[in-house]
Amino acid sequence: MNLKTPINQIKGIGRQKYNCFKKIGIEKVEDLLFYFPRKYINLKQIKKISNLKEGEKVTVKGNVIAREEKKGYGKINYLKVAVSDGTGILYIIFFNQVYLKKIFQIGKTFIFYGKIEFFNKEFEMINPFYEEYEEKKIDWILPVYPLTKGLSQKIMRKILKFVLKNLTEYPEEILPINRRLALNISNIKHALLNIHFPVSEINLEKARNYLIFREFFIFQLNLLWKKNMERKIDDKIYIIDEKVIEEFEKLLPFKLTENQKEVMEEIIKDLKNGKLIRRLIHGEVGSGKTIIAIFTLWIFGKMGYQGVFLCPTEILAQQHYINWNEFLLSDGINVSLLTGKTEEKSKIINEIENGKINVIIGTHAILNEKINFKNLKIVIVDEQHKFGVNQQELLKEKSKNVHYISMSATPIPRTLALTIFGNMDFSTLGEIPKGQRQVITYMFSNENKDKVYSFIKFLISQNKIGFIITPAIKGNENVESAEEKYKELKEKFPDIKIGLLHGRMEKEKQEEVLKKMKDREINLLISTTVIETGIDIPDVSFIVIEQAERFGLAQLHQLRGRVGRSGEVGYCFLIVYNEDEEVNERLNNFIEKESGFDISELDYNLRGPGDLLGTRQHGILPLKIGDIHKDIELLELAKKEVERIFKIDPELKKMDYLRKFIKNE
Ligand code: ADP
Ligand code: MG
Repeated sequence: MNLKTPINQIKGIGRQKYNCFKKIGIEKVEDLLFYFPRKYINLKQIKKISNLKEGEKVTVKGNVIAREEKKGYGKINYLKVAVSDGTGILYIIFFNQVYLKKIFQIGKTFIFYGKIEFFNKEFEMINPFYEEYEEKKIDWILPVYPLTKGLSQKIMRKILKFVLKNLTEYPEEILPINRRLALNISNIKHALLNIHFPVSEINLEKARNYLIFREFFIFQLNLLWKKNMERKIDDKIYIIDEKVIEEFEKLLPFKLTENQKEVMEEIIKDLKNGKLIRRLIHGEVGSGKTIIAIFTLWIFGKMGYQGVFLCPTEILAQQHYINWNEFLLSDGINVSLLTGKTEEKSKIINEIENGKINVIIGTHAILNEKINFKNLKIVIVDEQHKFGVNQQELLKEKSKNVHYISMSATPIPRTLALTIFGNMDFSTLGEIPKGQRQVITYMFSNENKDKVYSFIKFLISQNKIGFIITPAIKGNENVESAEEKYKELKEKFPDIKIGLLHGRMEKEKQEEVLKKMKDREINLLISTTVIETGIDIPDVSFIVIEQAERFGLAQLHQLRGRVGRSGEVGYCFLIVYNEDEEVNERLNNFIEKESGFDISELDYNLRGPGDLLGTRQHGILPLKIGDIHKDIELLELAKKEVERIFKIDPELKKMDYLRKFIKNE
């Protein structure tokens, strides 16, 4: 049996099972090997029956002392098995499976894993996982796979065992042994054996490490290979005035930030070097990315070339068009808007084809039209992360031989972005334009507040700090209190340094807490509105207001004013417990006032980090086991290793076996 063997050739996999396997993407032996468990049950952690508690999920080992077939309510028959471990009795219930009676013979010992129920003064487990206990043969750590209907854990384990036993070749090793030793990673055989059937927790850890590293390594190898091989050149030579940025700035109603100028310089440098631009511009909402796009379109437009500015939504395209049409026109650059709603489409397309139009602002409608551009030189994509996978593919196609800039506000750290978008150059806009204090305000219902919590957890991991405000110090069932929230979150987020502040604490104590926050000894402060009253508060990035409907507008205003004072984007979350029309209207007003930009364009920002994890499912990142947030250290290790290899062997001539891991697109 080898890696390419179709699994329907394995004994026990008939047509029906084969179809089930296909559904979860398994057709060959190789797919099966790389289909990883989603969790494990450790049978070594066995609980004594006398110590059981209702509701917990545990493993119990016991002797069968009695068994009985029963007629239940309605017509369901069930089997009740009494087992003992010498400290007490546990009853195992199997609904609709009385045939199991044969298996649970009196005197035999079994292992059970399941949830403990307490019913009629008896401890019970219902339909638990079980396995006969054999001193030597047993697997101590059992894999549990994500499965589909028609497949069971038992079948999956059986087939994987069989495959691992009969496999004549293992997947190719990614690195020679000396490198693996240096990096402290094991080998593919050990990893595959232990990810499916770990002999111990330590071996499982090693296997995971290896497989995550391997995945990141192959991912990075592909990115850097592309970057190396696709270093394309533009055949035109551009003559660009030294003072072009100053000239551009003169036309604007405001001064550019240093940061904006830096990014513009980077673009000009690419052009002067004759490089085909492949650049991702990353900057939070409100950091002023649009102007970079306009600048670039302006440069190309003035030279008589065409450019496309692509937006994910109709509204955004319109907004850009309205804001910048006249600006560009005054320099002789003709702009057209092209979206799904555009009426005289064929006329516009005609004008694009004969070169009358220089800049086209629009939506993916542009991608869908067959347009023979006269001299298209640049494609700029706004909010690139909002385009779907198919559209991204179309984009790739359209932008093949032209300069390409994409802009994104996905809140990910720079190092991570560099790693994920390794085949692009990268610019960051970190500074918010002066006098543009930006606080983004969101409203969430209480049911959805976990989203807010996971977002602030992310912000804290980025070394940001913030508040959670509750209406009361001590609460009741209708009112959230700071003390309760403090307790709740300390338990929920043991890794976050959480503090408590309220008006009944002594002044000195209050100041001490705030000082701790300044020193980052506290990252998250649960507080009442005491922070409203002008005490010296450190710069915080976010504020969550629980039960926002209980606060007056002026109060909310004060609270929000605590955020985003250091020239970074700040976040304000209003959590609403009791929604009604009045509340909605009042809070929506509050949100729109002062935000200064279109709220509907912003909500994705919240989903940012989650979405990036989610992209695994969307197929943008080809990752099965690695997690770009949790496994960042392995990601960086893999990246360094790939960079090391390309440094000594840029075309993979010596290490040519690595080319096998490169996917051709
Ligand atoms: P982004 O697309 O990065 O979210 P925008 O380009 O929409 O941000 O800019 C946000 C706001 O800031 C806009 O109103 C824009 O006109 C303004 N702006 C951009 N750059 C500057 C600047 N240098 N000085 C003042 N305001 C600026
Ligand atoms: Mg924008």
